[in-house]
Amino acid sequence: MVECESSGRDNMAVPRSSDAEPADASRLLAHSRLLDSVAAFTHHRDVDALDHSLVLSLAELTAARSVSLGKYTADNHGRLRTVVRCTVGAHGHYELRVFEPAPDDPSLHLLRQGAERVETHEYPGAGGLHRLIVPILSEGRAVGALQLESDVPCGDSRPLVAGFARIYANYTALLNESERDKLTGLYNRRTFERHLQRLLQADPGAIPTEALDERRHTDPSARDEVWLAILDIDHFKRINDSYGHVYGDEVILLLAQQMRACFRQSDVLFRFGGEEFVILLTAHDEATVRTVLERFRLRMAEHVFPRVEHVTVSVGYARIGEHDYPATVLERADKALYFAKEHGRNCVHGFEALTAQGLLEGGTLAGSIDLF
Ligand code: GH3
Ligand code: MG
Ligand code: MG
Repeated sequence: MVECESSGRDNMAVPRSSDAEPADASRLLAHSRLLDSVAAFTHHRDVDALDHSLVLSLAELTAARSVSLGKYTADNHGRLRTVVRCTVGAHGHYELRVFEPAPDDPSLHLLRQGAERVETHEYPGAGGLHRLIVPILSEGRAVGALQLESDVPCGDSRPLVAGFARIYANYTALLNESERDKLTGLYNRRTFERHLQRLLQADPGAIPTEALDERRHTDPSARDEVWLAILDIDHFKRINDSYGHVYGDEVILLLAQQMRACFRQSDVLFRFGGEEFVILLTAHDEATVRTVLERFRLRMAEHVFPRVEHVTVSVGYARIGEHDYPATVLERADKALYFAKEHGRNCVHGFEALTAQGLLEGGTLAGSIDLF
């Protein structure tokens, strides 16, 4: 006889179908609608698409007139970093917006407070508007919160929203792990390839949240261009050879931390491979891109690393055109990087400027990175 080990689930009191309340057609329909939503929601493989799907699903399943997902910064301050909002329009259509919160936006004050709370709160009826705040918890800490605004009390939606918040927390933890590099916590190469491909397919829903800003939604003339920079540590082999791989790894980790501190939140950072990093920057013009990258190069040259002390980086960048192929953009930035390596290292070069000056003519410069 085979004995089964008893799991926690075996001990749960699950009613047999004959003991359960008779299921009427409308309840079954509601359940299957809910399951459809959960299945559609967990179909996504990147966090940005999941965020959109979460607020949209809840707007569809509840009577809310708007559903907002607030995401907090990962540091200890728990500031509100991004908001993804789905509003139900007058004709029943759904409108999605992703924005960086303005500090004085009164519609966000409950979401801001949410960072300090781990419980669900309901704020009934002030000004005819009912609000429900449900935290999204990871290891006991609020990493985000959902805010529902409704003309009717939201109490009935509470278990549903709390359930979605739990699924979202579990699922984002899994996705984050697969999207990020283990050593630095930056996005990994796989994520970069997906982001770049989607960016070039001009699918705004799939552009990394950080690369979108409020202006894109309100003023098309203010659209920034996107630039791709490749950054490579100079003479990294020597660092490994002289101090060992552990110190080499430490340099990679500290450099990634410096990148986080130096670049704006709207810039997206990736560890591309060993000691190579990629940055997707949004900027109005090339001069801004150059200034930002130059500032980081200088910051690195001046930084004192433990034991190793001085480390420099070379950077190549190129503009991402609407009709470019991913491999072409990477190749251009890589050519500029190779030029930087050939011309003294510890410097920044842009593909467009080098081409305009005829310095890349003949196409004989071959880059060093593996393209797709
Ligand atoms: P260059 O200035 O031309 O870039 O010189 P380099 O020495 O940095 O050249 P290269 O890119 O060829 O060498 C990179 C070295 O980085 C090779 C590899 O042993 C090492 N490396 C790759 N990944 C890791 C890692 O995760 N940790 C450590 N410690 N070393 C790594
Ligand atoms: Mg390299
Ligand atoms: Mg190198």
